[in-house]
Amino acid sequence: MKNLKMYINGNWRESISEQLIEVKNPANGEVIATIPRGQKGDVDLAVHAAQQAFEKEAWWKVKPHERGDILYHIAEMIKKDRDELAALETIDVGKPLSQGYADIDAAIRYFQFYAGAADKVMGDTIPIESGIIDYVVREPIGVTAHIVPWNYPIQILSRSVAAAIAMGNTVIVKSAEDTPMTAMKIAEYFHDVGLPDGVFNHITGYGNEAGAALSSHSLINHLTFTGSVETGIAVANAANKNIVPVTLELGGKSPNIVFSDCDLDKAVEGVTRAIIQNAGQTCSAGSRLLIESSFKNQFIERLLERFQTLTIGPGIKDMDIGPILNEKQFKRIQSYLTLAKSEASILVGGKQVTIEGNEGGFYMEPTIIDQVQENSKLAQEEIFGPVISVFTFNDTEEALALANSTEYGLVTGLWTKDISRAHYLADRIQSGQIFINNYGAGGGIQMPFGGYKKSGFGREKGWIALYNYTQVKNVAIKYMS
Ligand code: NAD
Repeated sequence: MKNLKMYINGNWRESISEQLIEVKNPANGEVIATIPRGQKGDVDLAVHAAQQAFEKEAWWKVKPHERGDILYHIAEMIKKDRDELAALETIDVGKPLSQGYADIDAAIRYFQFYAGAADKVMGDTIPIESGIIDYVVREPIGVTAHIVPWNYPIQILSRSVAAAIAMGNTVIVKSAEDTPMTAMKIAEYFHDVGLPDGVFNHITGYGNEAGAALSSHSLINHLTFTGSVETGIAVANAANKNIVPVTLELGGKSPNIVFSDCDLDKAVEGVTRAIIQNAGQTCSAGSRLLIESSFKNQFIERLLERFQTLTIGPGIKDMDIGPILNEKQFKRIQSYLTLAKSEASILVGGKQVTIEGNEGGFYMEPTIIDQVQENSKLAQEEIFGPVISVFTFNDTEEALALANSTEYGLVTGLWTKDISRAHYLADRIQSGQIFINNYGAGGGIQMPFGGYKKSGFGREKGWIALYNYTQVKNVAIKYMS
């Protein structure tokens, strides 16, 4: 059992409250570590440290390519500890070990990608009139806050922190109280790489304490949040009071749309993988299945066969489906399944599974719900478990209407060989990302990611995310009258 500490201004610290939070392994409920229960006073220390660091030459004089070197170095450190970190992410979050590895590899790629970008974000010159030179520079925005959820801790931290540091900002991370372990390691790497004190800070604690204090702090210049809509609204409101821009990534109710001309094997596998990854505890989970009516029986039959083969167990054994994060999340999922029993039809799954030797974990069968009404909570709300709701359509327009029928718009999967139909739907569907005949494209860290509607605004990942962490300055020089 480890007693972990926050990282503020280059020092490892307890909370001023001296209180601790226990971190549990979702596989069996055992306590694996304690973390400080960070308070407003701790956040204040971290924010002031980040603000002072931003103003010191020790940071702003670091050349862009040298910031790139720092990030590249972090990528190498993560690579060196790849096995340890993959196991740590698995023990902390519960996900299958191969998915833990995928997350570590994505983190490496984020640090590499943004290392390369650090000296390549350019300005512009603007034509005004003879005798005036007008130019635009992109400057760092200042103190950036990063509130991270529990489902993909190292990936979500890495994607925004690497971009923010690449652009010359300073950073305060608030990791999720349930899954802070890999953020601790990233703090160690930043410490060891010799980053000036205060450039990277890591706060732990509950959302309504440390998280709320961070999002409402008047010295923050940008806030990045990933998590639920409800909390997203709270952090956006808090930031709004200080006129602070936010980037919000808030989950979804993403459809996989299956036409009868699809490649059946690939579509069945794609639809399955889209809902079982991290036991469905994924913002971009393919949680709605929209099938062409005439094809429903054939497709569902094959999907049920595939579901029967899925294995369930502790992440470290690398089964297909690991445990649900904790009892609270498990009960939340079960409440949707209770609703499904009364107003829809459960085709397969839904039951709790006991794993011998891991009785303290919360495991469940992957589940398919049929006969779901379009306005039901089962059709509209993020269940955040391995649960698919099924719908049917008769033609492309019906598919389009169904796809757009929720408040979310994060990701869409389209399965068809008809290229015209695929392009038409890609054009009309309100979704930040569309995958045609695949779902995820291997998670490419270069692709912009974010949502339409209540899935949030702003984009993470890729080149475009760098602009979240800059502000534009226009300079006009009159050199001739
Ligand atoms: P959450 O949105 O409440 O928490 C996400 C992060 O925000 C955590 O670090 C948390 O400590 C922090 N936070 C919580 N309240 C805060 C506040 N008032 N101010 C500032 N920060 C705050 O998510 P949760 O409670 O862990 O999970 C609830 C539901 O949210 C899930 O069941 C799921 O539907 C959804 N969720 C979505 C994602 C996603 O990737 N989109 C991730 C996690 C959870």
